[in-house]
Amino acid sequence: MNISKHTVASFHYTLRNGEGLELESSRGDQPTAYLHGASNIIPGLEAALEGKAAGDYVEVTLSAEEAYGQRREGAVQRVPVKHLIYRGKLRPGTTVQMNTQHGGIPVTVIKVGRHTAEVDTNHPLAGQNLSFEIDIVDVRAATSEEISHGHAHGAGGHQH
Ligand code: ZN
Repeated sequence: MNISKHTVASFHYTLRNGEGLELESSRGDQPTAYLHGASNIIPGLEAALEGKAAGDYVEVTLSAEEAYGQRREGAVQRVPVKHLIYRGKLRPGTTVQMNTQHGGIPVTVIKVGRHTAEVDTNHPLAGQNLSFEIDIVDVRAATSEEISHGHAHGAGGHQH
């Protein structure tokens, strides 16, 4: 089966920035699963995976525009610490989730005060060219429930 609209693909990936530095990898862990054609992953990556099958290796380099966009000026906000989700101690330079009315988004902590923190709401990968090395592990038809939810269920996918 080939990756197309309404299939669920799972894959292992290594993500590197423009300098070749490894940023993330799923290898040695569970593969990531996503519902194709539902904007679960960034558009440039989704386009590169279209038509591929289990066992295929895909290497793709995306400009910042094709990935997480350019960094925006004025994206620094002071927010109540209680809106941030983190374990342990809140430290400058780390990425944490911030609760917003649109759900959780990743933000980078700049400064920590007693009750508030200064965070940069640019996506941590904004402004970077990214390259992905991908091994496709499995491709299957999506269930009608996955299609109606707009995401993959089960291992590597959305857990309810
Ligand atoms: Zn669901």
